[in-house]
Amino acid sequence: LHETYDKCIAYYNDSIFNDTLLEKRLVGEFDTALAEKQFCMYLQPQMTPEGQMLGAEALVRWQHPNRGLIFPGDFINVFERTGLIYRLDKYVWELAVQKLSEWQKHGKNELYISINISAKDFYYMDVYKTITTLVEKYGIIPKTLKLEITETAIMTGISGELEILEQFRNYGFQVEIDDFGSGYSSLNTLKDMDVDVLKIDMGFLRTTKPDRIKRSMSILNNIIDLSKTLGLSVITEGVETKEQVTALTKMGCRIYQGYYFSKPIPIEDFENTYLK
Ligand code: C2E
Ligand code: CA
Ligand code: CA
Ligand code: CA
Repeated sequence: LHETYDKCIAYYNDSIFNDTLLEKRLVGEFDTALAEKQFCMYLQPQMTPEGQMLGAEALVRWQHPNRGLIFPGDFINVFERTGLIYRLDKYVWELAVQKLSEWQKHGKNELYISINISAKDFYYMDVYKTITTLVEKYGIIPKTLKLEITETAIMTGISGELEILEQFRNYGFQVEIDDFGSGYSSLNTLKDMDVDVLKIDMGFLRTTKPDRIKRSMSILNNIIDLSKTLGLSVITEGVETKEQVTALTKMGCRIYQGYYFSKPIPIEDFENTYLK
């Protein structure tokens, strides 16, 4: 019996085992982490090709007391699956709105922050009420809060996403399609809903084979043209080189987010670098 048992263990995939264990731990630590403010908001600037900062995307990080800095790739999925995501997002959104209100008290009324809305948020809470309540609590200018949502989330439509996003736009928020071009329904999304901004998926820039780069560039060119025809602004995410910025600027893109300009950084660094 012992021998069979050993064999079973041998077949067990070690990394999957550890991942599941880690996931369980992270879920178990969520309440404490939230209460002890271990989640923090990093900001990644959105820039013009000339280097002017227009606003930033809020990206969460988990400053864990013994695991160090944990990136969203390691916990967002887990929290989406376990229904914790809406509590985290609500918390991050409030940090963003607080920051905007502080900036606006100092007369910086043009700067915006983009927040991420998970598809699962619509399922677990009244997203419209949560966000408008925050905006009214802190008295910020609605158009300085941008709402990022992926096309896949929009098109599932199970919780009335299309209608809710329409309500958001009527309220004065800017709505942005995140990871545009990564889903299977990109063009349908554009047909069915009015948005303000397309944020092009960085996958188009991550190809390395020369012939693919060419193809990617034609697709990008067409997305940029299409967005102009539809009266949308377009952001290219994930730009890492000067060449990419130059090429995309020729195609008509005016807003960039990517390591070429800056990685996501803590708020204090962001303010020291861009708001002094
Ligand atoms: P996303 O919304 O598509 O955010 C962009 C991600 O691309 C960020 O990763 C950012 O650091 C990374 N990035 C930006 N520029 C570059 C670049 O030039 N090169 C490369 N290689 N990467 C770049 P991050 O911060 O690790 O976030 C990953 C994902 O986690 C986000 O993808 C978003 O889907 C999710 N996420 C992050 N924060 C939140 C949050 O507060 N709430 C929710 N629901 N999701 C979040
Ligand atoms: Ca995003
Ligand atoms: Ca994105
Ligand atoms: Ca994404």
